[in-house]
Amino acid sequence: MKILKFGGTSVGSPERMMEVRKLVVNEEPKIVVLSAIAGTTNSLVEIAQCLYKKENKQANLLIGELESKYQSFIKELYDTETGLNKGSEVINNHFGFIRSFTQDSFTIHEEKAILAQGELISTALFHFSLEEKGMASTLLPALNFMRIDEYGEPDMAYITGNLKTELEKHSGEILFITQGYICRNPFGEIDNLRRGGSDYTASIVGAAIHASEIQIWTDIDGMHNNDPRFVEETHPISELSFDEAAELAYFGAKILHPSSIRPAKDKNIPVRLLNTMKPEAAGTLIGPNISGSGIKAIAAKEGITAVKIKSGRMLMAYGFLRQIFEVFEHYRTPIDMIATSEVAVSLTIDDTTHLDEIVQEIEKYGTVEIDRDQAIVCIVGNFGMDESGHALKVFDALKDIPIRMISYGGSRYNVSVLINQQYKNKALKAINVGLFNKKG
Ligand code: ADP
Ligand code: ASP
Ligand code: MG
Repeated sequence: MKILKFGGTSVGSPERMMEVRKLVVNEEPKIVVLSAIAGTTNSLVEIAQCLYKKENKQANLLIGELESKYQSFIKELYDTETGLNKGSEVINNHFGFIRSFTQDSFTIHEEKAILAQGELISTALFHFSLEEKGMASTLLPALNFMRIDEYGEPDMAYITGNLKTELEKHSGEILFITQGYICRNPFGEIDNLRRGGSDYTASIVGAAIHASEIQIWTDIDGMHNNDPRFVEETHPISELSFDEAAELAYFGAKILHPSSIRPAKDKNIPVRLLNTMKPEAAGTLIGPNISGSGIKAIAAKEGITAVKIKSGRMLMAYGFLRQIFEVFEHYRTPIDMIATSEVAVSLTIDDTTHLDEIVQEIEKYGTVEIDRDQAIVCIVGNFGMDESGHALKVFDALKDIPIRMISYGGSRYNVSVLINQQYKNKALKAINVGLFNKKG
């Protein structure tokens, strides 16, 4: 069984949805994971924000606008009156649900329920569109099997067991459709895997059923060597190892959700990145093998906070770093980069939810300085331990950019540098010119 995930733009218009229909209808057994139609989740976030602020009039206006987009969508998607009636029913039900919150109180739980509507609508519309064409498919409700634990991690045992039960209800079927992004939390409430989470769903579902391949279909022909949103000339990479891809995803390559490689890697399932607009393009194959050498790609992540702890107590002492790290561990705050000297340690975090408490505790050990609005630029490749010259190339390309921290040697496949966020695009461009000989 394969997993095929289609992102927002891939189902973003009736024509695109019809193209997806062509890609999924064949003899190969598969689970199709769909995102919400492009723009929907952003609109739902905006609607939820209005409801929070009790701006119900504005919320109603936005709901009306989104609903009319869907009315036009279904008119083009369906050819028959039966199809159109089914589509209308989907829209009426889900928008009726969203509207109900303009009458009632609104909390974080309702916000998550509203955000889930995008994927619930896209999968239902797609299912009925297949049905209209006489193609059999089965909707698997993600809320019946996708669950995260109290730390927001996928509960793999629960997911595996419940997905198996859902699939067993339909033995003999070969085309399943489910919602990306949405799940339940340990209290049974509707939750989600964070923005861009449909990739993560695909990988989790793939791992749960030991799929033969996980395909992520999007609007570009695979993982590129640099961020095409900010850099002029980029090219697709044909092969990446799980670790290389995970690093790029975690450090900002938007094509993949930051956590989406781990479940596939755990079960050694290849992940293929493919382009819905150009299905014949080779895309990127992500697997266990490391191929090629040298620098392959670069990604950057903004919104990083650097924490520096200076202390005379570090000198010739042991146990100091452990004490510091335990504070971060206590607040479940991941550390991305570290650099140490005999009298100071600098580290970076992305999640600042508990920063105040963390600072209060580590001030016991030394003077603490905080630098916000930093960016990590992550250069990924295969840097053999005996090879020379890679670091020189990176720093030569970045010679006009002030560098705050460097991490090299943590693994064989990455060099990371911390710079002020304002230089992020300049750094991406400079590396494109300096390392890839392409336009920046
Ligand atoms: P989907 O809606 O299909 O999930 P996304 O917008 O989440 O699509 O991801 C695809 C987009 O990721 C591309 O259109 C591209 O602009 C962006 N992107 C950022 N970095 C990269 C990269 N290194 N390679 C390819 N795409 C990237
Ligand atoms: N629809 C969700 C989002 O826009 C999930 C996804 O597209 O992967 O974030
Ligand atoms: Mg995405």
